[in-house]
Amino acid sequence: MNKFVALAVVSALFITFVPVRVSAEFEEDILAVEFAAEDEKFIASLPAAKGKYKSRQRPLLIQGAMNSEIGLWVRALKNPVVYRHLNYVYIAGTYKNYPVVVSRTEEFIPNAAASTALALTNFNPVAVINQGTAGGYVETLVLGDIVIGARSINMSALRTTYQPKGTGIDVTQSELLGSFAYDKDLGKFRIYEDFSADPTLLRLAEKISGFNALTGTIGTSDGWNSSVDYMGFLNEKYGVVCEEMETASAAQICHGSGVPFIGIRVISNNITNGSAYQPQSAEYAQRFTMILAENYIRNVLKK
Ligand code: SAH
Repeated sequence: MNKFVALAVVSALFITFVPVRVSAEFEEDILAVEFAAEDEKFIASLPAAKGKYKSRQRPLLIQGAMNSEIGLWVRALKNPVVYRHLNYVYIAGTYKNYPVVVSRTEEFIPNAAASTALALTNFNPVAVINQGTAGGYVETLVLGDIVIGARSINMSALRTTYQPKGTGIDVTQSELLGSFAYDKDLGKFRIYEDFSADPTLLRLAEKISGFNALTGTIGTSDGWNSSVDYMGFLNEKYGVVCEEMETASAAQICHGSGVPFIGIRVISNNITNGSAYQPQSAEYAQRFTMILAENYIRNVLKK
């Protein structure tokens, strides 16, 4: 696709997408895969990289799980070339005259961990920004709102308390196990309750204006929760404000290698206020992280 057509499509989306509240009946999900068909074609049209990645400066790594979550970022890169490691795609170029690698992690925890580990060994990034969509756990979060992940927590690993046969299933009678992750300072693996964002990236993210942003805990699991009471439980007990499937996983790998990390999510669905999944909301997380990346490049990396 011609660059100007791409730009027109992207601008049209930016103008036409207004965060909506679907109040009455819960609507059918719109498929992200269909929504991002143009992004898939665009990425496929980019040249393959020749040889190993080389850069004088350590690149900034931007992650998104799906094409719909990286399309704008890929189009924002100058001189993009595509690397493939195992089955994961990385698009390297520059943004604001600084080397940036955009990584499509694919959905779910194992993919996020594997693609992050491969990114660390192949690109040696100076910092990692994981961004994308999430489901809101609190009614006040509307579609298009940004969650700045001061922390991320693995919600997949849990231990249930003993519940005798015939007493029913109560998921609130469980405790999150946390993440078994490498502690660089201790030199061994240990259990983490959660992972904190890099303080510099967090401070810069909190300074960004023009978005409805909330700082909080991002909950990561291999699943899609639709139980409003369970959301309330996780919010109350662990402070989780939204759920998705990659952040804590990527955070764990970065943490173990001492690479600064932050997760930024846009609310793309929120069952607590009846808002069905809108893939185009991914644009907000990309716009937000472009500002964050620019400020980080200017105020931290180029200093
Ligand atoms: N499979 C659907 C939508 C993707 S849902 C499709 O193809 O259209 C799963 C992805 O969206 C994950 O990458 C996850 O990080 C994110 N996500 C957004 N809202 C979520 C929610 N409520 N629960 C879990 N993951 C969510």
